[in-house]
Amino acid sequence: MKTNKTLLASLAALAVASLLNAADKKHPTGYTDTPLLPDGKWRVHDDNRPRPSVVKSGETFSHLAPPPSDATVLFDGTNLDNWVNTKPNKPVAWKVENGYMEVTPKSGTIKTKDNFGDFQLHLEFATPAEVKGVSQGRGNSGVIIYGSYEVQLLDSFNNKSYADGQCGAMYGQFPPLWNAAKKPGSWQTYDIIFETARWKDGKLVKKANVTVLHNGVLLHHRKEFIGTVKHKKVANYAKPHPPEGPIVLQDHGNPMRFRNIWIRNIGSYDANAE
Ligand code: MG
Repeated sequence: MKTNKTLLASLAALAVASLLNAADKKHPTGYTDTPLLPDGKWRVHDDNRPRPSVVKSGETFSHLAPPPSDATVLFDGTNLDNWVNTKPNKPVAWKVENGYMEVTPKSGTIKTKDNFGDFQLHLEFATPAEVKGVSQGRGNSGVIIYGSYEVQLLDSFNNKSYADGQCGAMYGQFPPLWNAAKKPGSWQTYDIIFETARWKDGKLVKKANVTVLHNGVLLHHRKEFIGTVKHKKVANYAKPHPPEGPIVLQDHGNPMRFRNIWIRNIGSYDANAE
Protein backbone atom coordinates (compact mmCIF):
# COMPACT_ATOMS: atom_id res chain seq x y z
CA MET A 1 0.00 0.00 0.00
CA LYS A 2 2.76 2.36 1.00
CA THR A 3 4.69 1.56 -2.19
CA ASN A 4 1.58 2.27 -4.25
CA LYS A 5 1.16 5.65 -2.58
CA THR A 6 4.80 6.51 -3.22
CA LEU A 7 4.43 5.38 -6.82
CA LEU A 8 1.28 7.49 -7.26
CA ALA A 9 2.99 10.48 -5.67
CA SER A 10 5.97 10.22 -8.03
CA LEU A 11 3.66 9.78 -11.03
CA ALA A 12 1.75 12.90 -9.99
CA ALA A 13 5.01 14.81 -9.55
CA LEU A 14 6.09 13.68 -13.02
CA ALA A 15 2.78 14.83 -14.52
CA VAL A 16 3.15 18.26 -12.86
CA ALA A 17 6.76 18.49 -14.05
CA SER A 18 5.78 17.69 -17.63
CA LEU A 19 2.98 20.29 -17.46
CA LEU A 20 5.51 22.86 -16.25
CA ASN A 21 7.87 21.88 -19.06
CA ALA A 22 5.05 22.39 -21.56
CA ALA A 23 4.51 25.89 -20.17
CA ASP A 24 8.23 26.57 -20.41
CA LYS A 25 8.22 25.47 -24.03
CA LYS A 26 5.37 27.85 -24.85
CA HIS A 27 7.04 30.67 -22.93
CA PRO A 28 10.81 30.13 -23.07
CA THR A 29 13.11 32.57 -21.30
CA GLY A 30 14.44 33.58 -24.72
CA TYR A 31 15.54 32.46 -28.16
CA THR A 32 18.84 31.60 -29.83
CA ASP A 33 17.56 30.99 -33.36
CA THR A 34 15.90 34.31 -34.19
CA PRO A 35 17.39 36.82 -36.68
CA LEU A 36 20.05 39.31 -35.64
CA LEU A 37 19.00 42.87 -34.82
CA PRO A 38 20.60 45.68 -36.88
CA ASP A 39 23.34 46.10 -34.22
CA GLY A 40 24.62 42.69 -35.40
CA LYS A 41 25.26 41.73 -31.80
CA TRP A 42 21.99 40.47 -30.36
CA ARG A 43 19.17 38.42 -31.76
CA VAL A 44 15.49 39.33 -31.47
CA HIS A 45 14.42 38.13 -27.97
CA ASP A 46 17.99 36.91 -27.43
CA ASP A 47 18.26 34.55 -24.46
CA ASN A 48 21.94 35.51 -24.10
CA ARG A 49 21.32 39.27 -23.92
CA PRO A 50 21.92 40.49 -20.35
CA ARG A 51 18.77 41.33 -18.39
CA PRO A 52 18.58 44.93 -17.12
CA SER A 53 19.74 45.59 -13.56
CA VAL A 54 17.16 46.22 -10.87
CA VAL A 55 16.56 49.76 -9.60
CA LYS A 56 14.25 50.15 -6.63
CA SER A 57 11.89 52.97 -7.52
CA GLY A 58 10.21 55.45 -5.20
CA GLU A 59 7.04 54.04 -3.69
CA THR A 60 4.43 56.34 -5.24
CA PHE A 61 6.04 58.26 -8.13
CA SER A 62 3.25 59.93 -10.19
CA HIS A 63 0.58 57.75 -8.55
CA LEU A 64 -2.87 59.20 -9.25
CA ALA A 65 -1.22 62.18 -11.00
CA PRO A 66 -4.06 64.62 -11.79
CA PRO A 67 -4.40 65.42 -15.51
CA PRO A 68 -3.37 68.91 -16.71
CA SER A 69 -6.22 71.09 -17.99
CA ASP A 70 -5.57 70.32 -21.67
CA ALA A 71 -5.29 66.54 -21.24
CA THR A 72 -7.76 64.05 -22.68
CA VAL A 73 -8.78 61.67 -19.91
CA LEU A 74 -8.91 58.19 -21.40
CA PHE A 75 -9.89 56.38 -18.22
CA ASP A 76 -11.00 57.98 -14.94
CA GLY A 77 -11.88 54.75 -13.15
CA THR A 78 -15.59 54.75 -13.92
CA ASN A 79 -16.24 53.53 -17.47
CA LEU A 80 -14.75 52.32 -20.77
CA ASP A 81 -16.59 54.85 -22.94
CA ASN A 82 -13.36 55.95 -24.67
CA TRP A 83 -12.39 52.41 -25.70
CA VAL A 84 -13.39 49.84 -28.31
CA ASN A 85 -12.36 46.27 -29.05
CA THR A 86 -9.65 46.11 -31.74
CA LYS A 87 -11.80 43.45 -33.44
CA PRO A 88 -14.74 45.11 -35.20
CA ASN A 89 -18.18 44.32 -33.77
CA LYS A 90 -16.75 42.76 -30.61
CA PRO A 91 -17.61 44.45 -27.31
CA VAL A 92 -15.15 45.75 -24.73
CA ALA A 93 -15.56 43.09 -22.08
CA TRP A 94 -12.94 44.25 -19.59
CA LYS A 95 -14.07 44.61 -16.00
CA VAL A 96 -14.39 48.02 -14.30
CA GLU A 97 -14.44 48.06 -10.50
CA ASN A 98 -12.96 50.00 -7.59
CA GLY A 99 -11.52 52.69 -9.87
CA TYR A 100 -9.61 50.37 -12.18
CA MET A 101 -10.20 48.36 -15.33
CA GLU A 102 -9.03 44.76 -15.56
CA VAL A 103 -8.34 42.61 -18.60
CA THR A 104 -10.90 39.83 -18.90
CA PRO A 105 -8.52 37.29 -20.42
CA LYS A 106 -9.23 36.29 -24.02
CA SER A 107 -11.99 38.92 -24.38
CA GLY A 108 -9.79 40.94 -26.70
CA THR A 109 -7.31 43.77 -26.97
CA ILE A 110 -8.78 47.28 -26.72
CA LYS A 111 -7.94 50.66 -28.26
CA THR A 112 -8.95 54.27 -27.83
CA LYS A 113 -11.77 55.56 -30.02
CA ASP A 114 -9.70 58.68 -30.74
CA ASN A 115 -6.38 58.96 -32.53
CA PHE A 116 -3.42 60.94 -31.22
CA GLY A 117 -0.36 62.54 -32.79
CA ASP A 118 2.92 63.08 -30.91
CA PHE A 119 1.92 62.81 -27.27
CA GLN A 120 2.61 62.63 -23.55
CA LEU A 121 0.78 59.74 -21.88
CA HIS A 122 0.26 58.93 -18.22
CA LEU A 123 -0.92 55.43 -17.31
CA GLU A 124 -0.98 53.26 -14.18
CA PHE A 125 -1.02 49.48 -14.06
CA ALA A 126 -0.75 46.51 -11.75
CA THR A 127 0.34 43.01 -12.65
CA PRO A 128 -1.72 40.19 -11.04
CA ALA A 129 -1.02 39.77 -7.30
CA GLU A 130 -1.21 36.02 -7.76
CA VAL A 131 1.73 34.98 -9.93
CA LYS A 132 0.71 32.53 -12.64
CA GLY A 133 2.73 31.47 -15.67
CA VAL A 134 6.36 31.98 -16.57
CA SER A 135 8.42 34.34 -18.73
CA GLN A 136 6.14 36.12 -21.25
CA GLY A 137 3.16 34.14 -19.91
CA ARG A 138 3.33 36.01 -16.60
CA GLY A 139 1.60 39.38 -16.15
CA ASN A 140 1.85 40.33 -19.82
CA SER A 141 0.09 43.22 -21.56
CA GLY A 142 1.41 46.16 -23.52
CA VAL A 143 0.90 49.77 -24.47
CA ILE A 144 0.91 49.31 -28.22
CA ILE A 145 1.10 52.80 -29.67
CA TYR A 146 -0.95 53.01 -32.89
CA GLY A 147 -1.08 49.21 -32.68
CA SER A 148 2.47 49.42 -34.08
CA TYR A 149 4.98 50.25 -31.35
CA GLU A 150 4.82 48.20 -28.16
CA VAL A 151 6.06 49.49 -24.85
CA GLN A 152 5.93 46.16 -23.07
CA LEU A 153 4.03 45.55 -19.85
CA LEU A 154 5.20 42.50 -17.96
CA ASP A 155 5.52 41.21 -14.44
CA SER A 156 9.31 41.59 -14.49
CA PHE A 157 9.73 41.13 -10.75
CA ASN A 158 12.22 38.23 -10.52
CA ASN A 159 11.28 37.13 -14.03
CA LYS A 160 14.16 35.91 -16.22
CA SER A 161 12.32 36.50 -19.49
CA TYR A 162 14.33 37.83 -22.43
CA ALA A 163 15.76 41.35 -22.15
CA ASP A 164 13.82 42.92 -25.04
CA GLY A 165 10.58 41.58 -23.54
CA GLN A 166 11.06 42.89 -19.98
CA CYS A 167 8.70 45.49 -18.54
CA GLY A 168 9.24 48.77 -20.38
CA ALA A 169 11.09 47.15 -23.30
CA MET A 170 10.56 48.52 -26.78
CA TYR A 171 9.32 45.01 -27.50
CA GLY A 172 11.65 42.91 -29.61
CA GLN A 173 13.98 45.87 -30.17
CA PHE A 174 15.52 47.39 -27.03
CA PRO A 175 15.48 46.24 -23.40
CA PRO A 176 14.66 48.89 -20.81
CA LEU A 177 17.78 50.61 -19.42
CA TRP A 178 16.76 49.36 -15.96
CA ASN A 179 14.36 46.96 -14.32
CA ALA A 180 12.14 49.24 -12.22
CA ALA A 181 9.34 46.68 -11.79
CA LYS A 182 7.49 46.56 -8.51
CA LYS A 183 6.14 43.48 -6.74
CA PRO A 184 3.14 41.72 -8.32
CA GLY A 185 -0.10 43.45 -7.42
CA SER A 186 1.51 46.86 -6.73
CA TRP A 187 0.40 49.95 -8.62
CA GLN A 188 3.08 51.20 -11.04
CA THR A 189 3.25 54.15 -13.41
CA TYR A 190 4.29 54.84 -16.98
CA ASP A 191 4.92 58.35 -18.25
CA ILE A 192 5.52 57.98 -21.97
CA ILE A 193 6.47 60.61 -24.54
CA PHE A 194 6.14 59.49 -28.13
CA GLU A 195 7.00 61.07 -31.46
CA THR A 196 5.67 59.21 -34.44
CA ALA A 197 7.35 58.15 -37.68
CA ARG A 198 6.84 60.28 -40.75
CA TRP A 199 6.91 59.49 -44.46
CA LYS A 200 7.15 61.90 -47.36
CA ASP A 201 6.22 60.72 -50.85
CA GLY A 202 6.30 57.15 -49.54
CA LYS A 203 9.82 57.56 -48.13
CA LEU A 204 10.55 57.34 -44.42
CA VAL A 205 11.86 60.74 -43.27
CA LYS A 206 11.62 60.29 -39.48
CA LYS A 207 11.67 57.18 -37.31
CA ALA A 208 9.32 56.96 -34.33
CA ASN A 209 10.96 57.50 -30.95
CA VAL A 210 9.95 57.14 -27.34
CA THR A 211 10.88 58.33 -23.87
CA VAL A 212 9.65 56.13 -21.03
CA LEU A 213 9.62 56.72 -17.28
CA HIS A 214 8.63 53.64 -15.27
CA ASN A 215 7.87 54.46 -11.65
CA GLY A 216 10.02 57.56 -12.16
CA VAL A 217 12.99 55.64 -13.60
CA LEU A 218 14.07 56.57 -17.13
CA LEU A 219 14.00 53.45 -19.36
CA HIS A 220 14.44 55.09 -22.80
CA HIS A 221 15.34 58.61 -23.80
CA ARG A 222 14.06 59.61 -27.24
CA LYS A 223 15.08 56.15 -28.44
CA GLU A 224 14.20 55.42 -32.07
CA PHE A 225 12.19 52.30 -32.89
CA ILE A 226 13.80 49.96 -35.42
CA GLY A 227 10.33 49.69 -36.94
CA THR A 228 6.81 48.55 -36.15
CA VAL A 229 6.50 45.71 -33.65
CA LYS A 230 7.22 42.10 -34.62
CA HIS A 231 7.49 38.83 -32.69
CA LYS A 232 10.61 36.75 -33.44
CA LYS A 233 11.35 38.93 -36.49
CA VAL A 234 13.26 42.14 -37.06
CA ALA A 235 11.00 45.20 -37.01
CA ASN A 236 10.85 47.50 -40.04
CA TYR A 237 9.05 50.52 -41.49
CA ALA A 238 7.80 48.71 -44.61
CA LYS A 239 4.20 49.85 -44.10
CA PRO A 240 3.69 53.63 -43.83
CA HIS A 241 0.99 54.69 -41.34
CA PRO A 242 -0.79 58.00 -40.67
CA PRO A 243 0.83 60.51 -38.26
CA GLU A 244 -1.93 59.83 -35.72
CA GLY A 245 -3.27 56.62 -34.23
CA PRO A 246 -4.96 55.00 -31.22
CA ILE A 247 -3.48 53.82 -27.95
CA VAL A 248 -3.87 50.05 -27.73
CA LEU A 249 -3.89 48.00 -24.51
CA GLN A 250 -3.12 44.35 -25.03
CA ASP A 251 -5.06 41.32 -23.80
CA HIS A 252 -2.28 38.75 -23.50
CA GLY A 253 -4.38 36.41 -21.36
CA ASN A 254 -3.48 37.86 -17.95
CA PRO A 255 -5.83 39.87 -15.66
CA MET A 256 -3.77 43.08 -15.72
CA ARG A 257 -5.23 46.22 -14.13
CA PHE A 258 -5.13 49.85 -15.31
CA ARG A 259 -6.18 53.16 -13.78
CA ASN A 260 -5.77 56.92 -14.28
CA ILE A 261 -4.94 57.15 -17.98
CA TRP A 262 -4.61 60.54 -19.64
CA ILE A 263 -2.90 61.94 -22.70
CA ARG A 264 -1.98 65.35 -24.10
CA ASN A 265 -0.50 66.62 -27.34
CA ILE A 266 3.14 67.69 -27.24
CA GLY A 267 2.44 70.77 -29.37
CA SER A 268 5.16 73.01 -30.79
CA TYR A 269 6.94 76.05 -29.36
CA ASP A 270 5.46 79.02 -31.18
CA ALA A 271 2.14 77.40 -31.96
CA ASN A 272 1.53 77.10 -28.22
CA ALA A 273 2.10 80.85 -27.57
CA GLU A 274 -0.88 83.03 -26.73
MG1 MG B 1 2.92 42.44 -24.39
